[in-house]
Formats: sequence, C-alpha cells, structure tokens
Amino acid sequence: MTRSETDFAGPGTYALILACRQTGSVQIGRLSRLHLQPGYYVYVGSALGTGGLQARLRHHLQIPARPHWHIDYLRAVCDVREVWFTSDTARFEHRWAKVMAGLPGAGVPLPRFGSSDCACVAHLFSYARVPSIRVFRQQVKTPVSRSVTSDFARSGCHRASC
Ligand SMILES: [Zn+2]
Repeated sequence: MTRSETDFAGPGTYALILACRQTGSVQIGRLSRLHLQPGYYVYVGSALGTGGLQARLRHHLQIPARPHWHIDYLRAVCDVREVWFTSDTARFEHRWAKVMAGLPGAGVPLPRFGSSDCACVAHLFSYARVPSIRVFRQQVKTPVSRSVTSDFARSGCHRASC
C-alpha cells in the first residue's frame, strides 16, 4: 500500500479494482459460473464490524484458503490492482454499486454477485479499462481515497498457465 495502514483502522466502504488477464470461467460458490473476460472487475463492499477496513482488506489482498464470499472465488484468479475506500460508519456500498453500474462501459458479469442480501443488481461490475475515480467521486459525493496495491503479491495469473 502507498498509504499507511492507519488509514484503514476504522469502518468503511470500499471498492476493489481487480485486473483479470485470462479467459475461461470460475465457479462462484453456489451462485453460478462467471465467464472471465480480460479487463477489470470492480467489487463494492463495506466493513463496518470488528476489524474494520483493515481486516477486510487484508483478507482480500490474500488468496483465501477457504472461499466464503462470492468475491473470494473471483479474487483467486484476479489481481487486486487498487482499493478505493472511504472511512465512515455509514454504509455506502449500495449507493457505490449504483454509481459503478452507471459509469461508462460498465457491465454486469453475473447478476446477484455480492448482492444476495440487497436490492442491487450486483456488487460486481466489469470494465475494459479502470474506471475514472474522478467521475466516481463526483457522483458519490463523498470523499474517496485510493490505494494502489502494486507492491502486493500477485495471484496465479502471472504464472505460465495464464
Ligand atoms: Zn446492494
């Protein structure tokens, strides 16, 4: 991370910007298979409980040994490229999901991904290029920090099998 860990100490809402370099498909728990496209996926979530953003992002930056959430299955085959986040006790994830869905070029690769418990079409969106954080900030109307995760270990996408 380029920012200090203390930025993540409290609760907040976040977006994971995932880079995918492969085609094929991955089973997302009991939901469905997701057909991978090279490009970017953005997953929106919030971490308002114990451990806050710090514990949640630590979870996402590793490849989970035991996938639990939908995003864990996708994370195993993609790199986390950036994290966008806001430190706030309010739950912004559904509003963020709506804004992400409306950004230019947004696709919904798998309806209900990450949104089993809410009315959003999904909490995962796909883009050919990383969406503009400037446009995103304008539309969510709350401060959004950005952290680039290039220092972190990459997923298996960099191995010869990809
Ligand atoms: Zn939602």
